[in-house]
Amino acid sequence: MKEQDKKYLLDSIRAIKDFPKEGIIFRDITTLLNNKEAFSFLIEHLATRYAKMNIDYIAGIESRGFIFGAALSAKLNLAFVPIRKPGKLPFNCLKESYSLEYGQDTIEIHTDAFNNTKNARVLLIDDLIATGGTALAAVKLIHRLQAQCVEACFLLELQDLSGAKELANLTSVYSVLKV
Ligand code: AMP
Repeated sequence: MKEQDKKYLLDSIRAIKDFPKEGIIFRDITTLLNNKEAFSFLIEHLATRYAKMNIDYIAGIESRGFIFGAALSAKLNLAFVPIRKPGKLPFNCLKESYSLEYGQDTIEIHTDAFNNTKNARVLLIDDLIATGGTALAAVKLIHRLQAQCVEACFLLELQDLSGAKELANLTSVYSVLKV
């Protein structure tokens, strides 16, 4: 993507200081979603990138990964798989826990998410990668279901936290914007 297009997208995302706590700059993507040109520009860009990668499924991480993942799935005529916070998915699930600054978190996927096919080609998508803990757990879930994570895609990468570098040991990583 051209530098000026990156700037256009980055400018469409609101940065909120000290939310949810002091020292965090929260990247608020609601302003991008509210801007129909910016939202379609992003989805078109991703559709062009992924149209020829033989993807079978797009897996989105709750909750902002659902927005981009579902929009892209519909555009590319692909199935969408939600990876959710614990207790939200009603059928049999696999769980993966990961460490947070304080404590632990867990995400889940339905065991039949990829229809029990082997080596399904999966694109993982979320809005942002920070420490990479959430995405790393999501890739592990995809692998545990015998699928391949072809790429993990993020709208924004926070480079200071180097989560993307760690994730790159497991899968290819693409971040549209880096800050
Ligand atoms: P992590 O597991 O540390 O990579 O955190 C990634 C998840 O936390 C993503 O689903 C993001 O939506 C959310 N997140 C982390 N940091 C921020 C931030 N500065 N602004 C907005 N969302 C964030």
